[in-house]
Amino acid sequence: MPSIHRLSDPLINQIAAGEVVERPASVLKEVLENAVDAGAQAIEVALEAGGIKRIRVSDDGCGIDKADLALALERHATSKIASLDDLESVGTMGFRGEALAAISSVARTSLTSRADGASHAWRVDGPGQTPVPAALNRGTVVDVQELYYNTPARRKFLKTDNTEFAHCDDAFRRVALARPDIAMQLSHNGRVSQRLAAGDMTRRTGALLGDDFLAHARAIEADTGPVRLTGFASLPAYSRASRDAQYFFVNGRFVRDKLVTHAIREAYRDILHGSRHPAYVLFLDIDPHTVDVNVHPAKIEVRFRDSRAVHQFIYHALERSLGQSGAGVADHAGT
Ligand code: ADP
Ligand code: MG
Repeated sequence: MPSIHRLSDPLINQIAAGEVVERPASVLKEVLENAVDAGAQAIEVALEAGGIKRIRVSDDGCGIDKADLALALERHATSKIASLDDLESVGTMGFRGEALAAISSVARTSLTSRADGASHAWRVDGPGQTPVPAALNRGTVVDVQELYYNTPARRKFLKTDNTEFAHCDDAFRRVALARPDIAMQLSHNGRVSQRLAAGDMTRRTGALLGDDFLAHARAIEADTGPVRLTGFASLPAYSRASRDAQYFFVNGRFVRDKLVTHAIREAYRDILHGSRHPAYVLFLDIDPHTVDVNVHPAKIEVRFRDSRAVHQFIYHALERSLGQSGAGVADHAGT
């Protein structure tokens, strides 16, 4: 056996990238979440070739200081937590400080940013690079090009541009649904595919899932104090053949959770045929101390401290609302 040696930083980052950067959509998710964490009010996404060739995200958030710019691409470098206490009550989407390090180890990544109060912007063209002066009015532009240019084995797993774009579109929708207060735009190969003005949850949901969904959905509103469930869930008339319109957020984070899916399925059991699927956009708000989001690098899985209570709460909230007679949300609103 060869002797034990430490792996180089680039190699460590590339290995970690396997967990964080599965495809263009996972890059987009991370970069979008950074823009949200930066307090952006407007975010613009420009994709080329399904995001494989290019993912460019511009935001008008707080920006990054020149001194921090190179550090932002380093592994385990974050401005978001400093202690274990912070981790247990984390209020930002990010906190692991590894997304940009992972992304920049497998794609040509540049970061241009102008921190609030700075006289001009700075740009870094990759890990270990020195910042150079740049032109930008405010906020940050993250430009990720040629994903997996240096890891051909991974590139082979990418699907067609259209398929990768569909995944990117979904990543965009997840953030857009969770943050209707942020104006968001998505373009692909120079063509704008989504242009969303800042607004409220009903408007944003209608823009992304269609007014037809709202017309056949029940508004959900359940609150026990420590736990709250809000959003929209489709009436049986709007059921779908696939699970393509199912969005569940825990404290603003899109998650996919067996327990949650089961609770929802149970609530529909008597009104929906087994081969049909409900459409929903639901937000669970819960004390962050009672849910662990640090289960997986992509944070798409969560662990509830009292999973039974959460299951019961979701099930009853939905069953109660769906059981009431009457029409959908848009009809109530008179639209
Ligand atoms: P994390 O989000 O877990 O902290 P990242 O690797 O995604 O880790 O980002 C590293 C750091 O870079 C962030 O903590 C933040 O300080 C900074 N950063 C990244 N993107 C932006 C952005 N769009 N605006 C402002 N700061 C950013
Ligand atoms: Mg991040």
